[in-house]
Amino acid sequence: MQIYQGKPVFEGVAIGKIRIHKQEGQTIAFVKVEDIHKELERFGYARVEALKKLREWYHHSLDKIGKANATIFEAQEIFLSDENYVGDIENLINTLSCNAEYAIGAVQEKYRFLFEQTDDDYMKARISDLKDVSERLLEALRGDALEEETFLEPVIILAEDILPSELMRMEQEMVLALVLTKGSFYSHTAILARTMGIPTLIQVNLNVDADMDEQIAVADSESGVFIIQPDQSVTAQVKQRLQQAKCEESADDQPVGMRICANIGSLKDLESLDGKPVDGIGLMRSEFVFFEREDFPSEDEQFEIYRTVLQAMPEKKVVIRVLDIGADKQCAYLPMEKEENPALGMRGVRVLLENQQILRTQLRALLRASVYGELHILYPMVTGLEEVHSIKEILISLEKELQEQGIVYGHPKQGVMIETPAAVIISDMLAEEVDFFSVGTNDLTQYTLAMDRQSPWLADIYQPRHPAVLRMIRLVVENAHKKGIEVAICGELSADTTLTKEFVQMGVDELSVAPGYVSSVRRKCKECRK
Ligand code: PEP
Ligand code: MG
Repeated sequence: MQIYQGKPVFEGVAIGKIRIHKQEGQTIAFVKVEDIHKELERFGYARVEALKKLREWYHHSLDKIGKANATIFEAQEIFLSDENYVGDIENLINTLSCNAEYAIGAVQEKYRFLFEQTDDDYMKARISDLKDVSERLLEALRGDALEEETFLEPVIILAEDILPSELMRMEQEMVLALVLTKGSFYSHTAILARTMGIPTLIQVNLNVDADMDEQIAVADSESGVFIIQPDQSVTAQVKQRLQQAKCEESADDQPVGMRICANIGSLKDLESLDGKPVDGIGLMRSEFVFFEREDFPSEDEQFEIYRTVLQAMPEKKVVIRVLDIGADKQCAYLPMEKEENPALGMRGVRVLLENQQILRTQLRALLRASVYGELHILYPMVTGLEEVHSIKEILISLEKELQEQGIVYGHPKQGVMIETPAAVIISDMLAEEVDFFSVGTNDLTQYTLAMDRQSPWLADIYQPRHPAVLRMIRLVVENAHKKGIEVAICGELSADTTLTKEFVQMGVDELSVAPGYVSSVRRKCKECRK
């Protein structure tokens, strides 16, 4: 039995076989190029491809790890748009007449050196982002995209370090724990591990040796130890702890005074809810159904998807939000005019009311699917009563149409997202028009604070717990309850357990969170009721 010490990043315990993860990085040869112009073009192409890849990762991760954390990939995009970083690579190609690969590697080393010299832990933690960005560029130049890494059985990943994108590519359910000999608490990999709920140890004092692969180990980030070849008594203790945790979780599906629901983006996300004590789907971001495709999904295709979600949640509430695109969420096959301020431009219901055929197709699919469960339709980015009136009229006309065609349909509840200050202020009036509210704190925060939710420059002063936002939520709950309708919170703030007590006191009826947070929020909610 060999015992090593490490620092916990996310607490938990796991037992399983070690899988050694080798980081990509290889030595890059210097090649003299004849045609500098062509080499600059190769680099330009790689930059565009890498940006596309990061955008894909961003969308892919949105529902897996939540919006706030998915911005990790947006932060990486900033390197690729940074004049100094890009300029340094182009300069090297120009001055050394070298291949783009070599210039990328050399510039990465230069910045790594600079970041390492600072005393700022945050900057030091950016080294792995920089490496990730270089990898995306090199990958684009090689022309190969790396596939999702799959495992035959659940494993403990052992590595010197791991890039955020490498972790995202791994089958999440198969990763029991992460054990890193380097790593930093502030790295994006650490943030991802915490969000995904993976027990993680960093700075473990061992040298990774190929012989360790496949050996049984215990990663105990509660005690800060990593044990290779644990003896029988350690193995028995760990198994008992795991069993106990499982019992606590399953005994945990008792009502906790408010519904704890999950946010999903696609059918695949339903799998991550298996065995979790969830009271329903509080937000299905239907735009992901659209993003996963090359063109518009037909009414029948959408119907099948929505029906599957409803059937997976018998007798539970399912909230499906109609297509919410615009600003950072773009759909390649629905080109939109470039705007100066896209977050203040064509978004949510504004896009749908301009493109009514898309809305009508989706609503028809939803009306048909609603026969299979407790469907609640949610309308995003509402600012005025007229928008709600228009959509309700469309819904009525579609019900009539379906009836005339002899097609079976149900009677879903309708609600609006409260994610603009305007909607908060008129929430008393909106409450007369709809059956429920869902507070989108991600947008509500950005519009209330006048701070772009994606700006890395504002990240330090961006305060989702700003008293203005909390007061707004309180006002919405009061207005809604006066009119007898319920309020959910489905933005990232709902998973912030430092606020659970306040939400309980406000009388919020439901918190809808990314699947990885369901258990912790439920536990917190129970504690608050004691
Ligand atoms: C929100 O704005 O809080 C929300 C849930 O919607 P999205 O993050 O998809 O904009
Ligand atoms: Mg929103």
